[in-house]
Amino acid sequence: MIHINLKKLISKPDISLAMKNLVAALDPNIAIWDAKGTILIGNANSLEHLSQKYPIKTASEIVGWVTGSEKAELFVQIISYIANQELEKKTLAIETLEKYEEINFLYEISSKFAVCVGIKEIIEFVISEAQKLIGGTNVSVMLINEETKKLEIIAARGQENNQKTVMEAGVGIAGHVLASGEAEIVNDVDSDPRYIPGENQINSLLCAPLIAASGTLGVINISNANPTHYTAQDLKRFKALAAPAAVAIENARLYEQLREYSRNLEQQVAQRTAQLERANQELQRLASLDGLTQVGNRRRFDEYLMENWQRLINEIAPMSLIMCDVDCFKSYNDSYGHLMGDDCLQRIAKAITCAVKHPAYLVARYGGEEFAIVLPNTSARGGMYIAETIKIEIEWLKIPHIQSSVSKYVTVSMGVSSTIPSEQYSPQDLIAAADIALYEAKNQGRDRIVFQALPD
Ligand code: GH3
Ligand code: MG
Ligand code: MG
Repeated sequence: MIHINLKKLISKPDISLAMKNLVAALDPNIAIWDAKGTILIGNANSLEHLSQKYPIKTASEIVGWVTGSEKAELFVQIISYIANQELEKKTLAIETLEKYEEINFLYEISSKFAVCVGIKEIIEFVISEAQKLIGGTNVSVMLINEETKKLEIIAARGQENNQKTVMEAGVGIAGHVLASGEAEIVNDVDSDPRYIPGENQINSLLCAPLIAASGTLGVINISNANPTHYTAQDLKRFKALAAPAAVAIENARLYEQLREYSRNLEQQVAQRTAQLERANQELQRLASLDGLTQVGNRRRFDEYLMENWQRLINEIAPMSLIMCDVDCFKSYNDSYGHLMGDDCLQRIAKAITCAVKHPAYLVARYGGEEFAIVLPNTSARGGMYIAETIKIEIEWLKIPHIQSSVSKYVTVSMGVSSTIPSEQYSPQDLIAAADIALYEAKNQGRDRIVFQALPD
């Protein structure tokens, strides 16, 4: 309650002067006393002759007395008016201060919440702040379980720490607060029929709902095992803590959902990217393969020859090329049919691949019944050796060819060329030389290997 000190009020210079003038003008026997009986203005002896004593009242108490003739009554009205004005002023000042403190408190709480990230951190913070602000033996935060729709203690401090309390909505004091959305003080829980006694004996309880934009998330409880009288001011502070706490919990939940969503999304993107990469690699592989024989196609041959040519210019290392053409293949088709011809080409491609094992060597179908083998970092001697190996592999196949002018079996002719790549020549020159060699092999009677160097 706000008190008015009459002595202090009357001793203000302007009031004091006005009072003294009034006393002199109205009645010199008038005296003003404070509530304890101390004279403030006037003559103390005058009280003996006076029968009248009038109280000076504010809205809430008697702050003093005026004695004197009936004229004192008028005096009382003036002083009471001044005292009430003072009371209003003081009340307003206290209210303003309280508001300021409240805003300051809210600001401090909100800025502290702003640095809490996870739900656990927020709840721990709320609990410790509640205990600091209000004081109590137990503090707990109960949240609604999304699946069971029941209130569950998420975190607690004090005796409730080890409790696994689960409460139906609408049951118990917490359940009622959850349903009504109104914070409550229960200073003697045993006298409240809604109270459900737990393992721990408590006496007084404050319970506030945690209300966020999406609805009520749960409640926060603070209780005391010892008899305590929680005040309206405690409740106000508790509510002021619960409000930003609810918002912070909701935000943290949304943030966690968002993070989970973005994690899933990232995973999906990574999976799709890997799938796409695999599909792309497969496409590239297919795009560089010959459909019939599964060796490199012409495009791959051109590409591979060019990239190795460039590399070997820098390395100043040799490169050889073999052009391999099936002998009398037109007549093979004529004798055995086109499908058998295809099959023959496939077997020859496999045989060449077997002979050319090095991963840096490329076997490609140059066109029709002609194959090309690119041999980087291989000299003319090496090239000739590989060509011999190919020839032997194909001979081992012993594919019958009755109409061949060369043998009972399918044979091949090969032209080999070799050089150390340089700016002086192009890959086409290497091909042309191998072609000349192949032509020469055919000319000399087929089923043989001829070497042709590049012109000087
Ligand atoms: P040479 O000994 O002089 O090389 O005689 P050749 O008959 O092998 O040469 P020619 O150029 O006269 O004939 C090549 C034949 O290869 C003609 C063509 O029908 C056949 N051929 C080309 N591509 C394929 C194919 O993919 N499958 C089949 N079955 N035959 C093919
Ligand atoms: Mg041929
Ligand atoms: Mg040919």
